[in-house]
Amino acid sequence: MSAPILLTETTFVSAASVVFGLLWGSFLNVVIYRLPRNRSVVRGRSQCPGCGTVIRWYDNIPLLSYLVLRGRCRNCGYRIPMSYPTVELLSGVISGAVVWYYGLGLEAAWMFVFLTALLAITFIDWSHRIIPDELSIGGTVFGWVGAVVCLDITLVESLIGSAVGFGILFLIAIVYKLVRRVDGMGGGDIKLMAMIGAFLGWKMVFVVLFVASLCGAVYGVYLMHRGGGSKTAVAFGSFLAPSATIVLIAGARFLEFYLQFLKRP
Ligand SMILES: [Zn+2]
Repeated sequence: MSAPILLTETTFVSAASVVFGLLWGSFLNVVIYRLPRNRSVVRGRSQCPGCGTVIRWYDNIPLLSYLVLRGRCRNCGYRIPMSYPTVELLSGVISGAVVWYYGLGLEAAWMFVFLTALLAITFIDWSHRIIPDELSIGGTVFGWVGAVVCLDITLVESLIGSAVGFGILFLIAIVYKLVRRVDGMGGGDIKLMAMIGAFLGWKMVFVVLFVASLCGAVYGVYLMHRGGGSKTAVAFGSFLAPSATIVLIAGARFLEFYLQFLKRP
């Protein structure tokens, strides 16, 4: 007799990995809030930013608590930013997706950490215009170790990927500074690109840069349309990080498209 569909091992593993992803998302929210404020991400209970009340465990359940509380603090009615449930949901989706794609194992774990670090970087850079070294440098080293342990990339390819990512953004930063006489690209973006190169290799560094510039340009046009003016600084890391995710998913096809784009007269 075959087991009912809900009890099969695959279904259980998928459901468990999504739940784990949601819980990890809750931790990511702590990282996103505290790292740019130079506070410990492991010590101290979570508090409401509005009234300082320590948040009870039952008000801290990923997604569910947000829905039950209708996005407000139980004590003071402080509006919980939409980014909280969004990060939890995306982390759950990423977790389910990597386990579905790579199977339960080290490679899935490594890619999960990489993708959720990119998620945290996207949100931190968007609101604070910084990329914490803990994530970018830590992520780069984590990628090199992954290349030795489990990833589908050799250590040499991973190191070259980091060097190319770092080098190319470093050059762009220098040229931008010479031309515009202001810092256009922060050191954070340069280190982030070293991390992306460590996981995706040097070829994909160019594709990521291409996709991110395209997204940045579209956003720039939107800003101009809205009347934001051309001086509005763009947090480029917020475009690089999600672009790396897109490239990981659609990488090879993007590379083809990119090469065709270059060949155009
Ligand atoms: Zn409150």
